[in-house]
Amino acid sequence: MPVNRISRLGIVNAYLVEEDDGLTLVDTMIPRSVKAILSAAGGREIKRIALTHAHGDHIGSLDALVAELSGVEVLISGRDARLLAKDMTLDAGEPDAKLRGGYPGADARPTRTVEAGERVGSLEVVASPGHTPGHVAFLDTRDRTLYCGDTYSTLGGVATTAKVNPRFPLPGLATWHGPTVLESAKALRALDPARLAPGHGKVVESPAAAMDAAIARGA
Ligand SMILES: [Zn+2]
Repeated sequence: MPVNRISRLGIVNAYLVEEDDGLTLVDTMIPRSVKAILSAAGGREIKRIALTHAHGDHIGSLDALVAELSGVEVLISGRDARLLAKDMTLDAGEPDAKLRGGYPGADARPTRTVEAGERVGSLEVVASPGHTPGHVAFLDTRDRTLYCGDTYSTLGGVATTAKVNPRFPLPGLATWHGPTVLESAKALRALDPARLAPGHGKVVESPAAAMDAAIARGA
């Protein structure tokens, strides 16, 4: 199944995932991306929006899309739903690290929060905290495409966001807790994905070796 990537400026991505009942949109990119997203959908119905995390370059067009698409489901982890509502408090058991990157919040609220192991159509929700406290990835169990959000970036080479990649520093600079990203990067590698579809950069086929190298550099 071909990966349907939508990109703004070649830098920030969203994805359309085909399901029997319509499309799932993974992330919404920066503000003013509605036209690009609807044009990529080509008239097919977007049934649900699944968010990897609450940073502004992933939720930027959420409110505009919810206004445009009547009845669309909005799915995000319970933890990042709080950041979507601009609740910036940390939980007692969490690393006491500074929340970084832009959290503009949104008026939209999730119609359902999702947790690891749950399904969004053909996508399995995979916990991958670290870049944000409640970051999740989505694994398409039909073809093992991994929508990895910002746990990995492929812009300027496959890298984890545990450390700042000098060739594309943005996602690393927005990371909350690097050591937790690294653990999540290992957990995603263990899924043995067939392709890596990140929030930033191109889709990478057969990414195992590149992920291993990225983990080694991120340690
Ligand atoms: Zn991010």
